[in-house]
Amino acid sequence: MKCQICGAAAEKGLTTSVTDLGKCLIIVRNVPCYKCSECSEIIYTGDVVQRLEKIIETAKKLMQEVSIIDYTQAA
Ligand SMILES: [Zn+2]
Repeated sequence: MKCQICGAAAEKGLTTSVTDLGKCLIIVRNVPCYKCSECSEIIYTGDVVQRLEKIIETAKKLMQEVSIIDYTQAA
């Protein structure tokens, strides 16, 4: 995987995704991603993006002020 910004090699890792929806904040931990070794850009694969969207949709329905979800535990 190469960085889309600078073209340097991006390495597999884990990150924390934070989505601020105004009324609520959704934090998803342990999200698999690629991290650029040069500019620290985070790249998600298509599968991860889709799953993240689902997790966020589910979290929205809970209407909690802050939701902290572990990506690896989310259904
Ligand atoms: Zn980069």
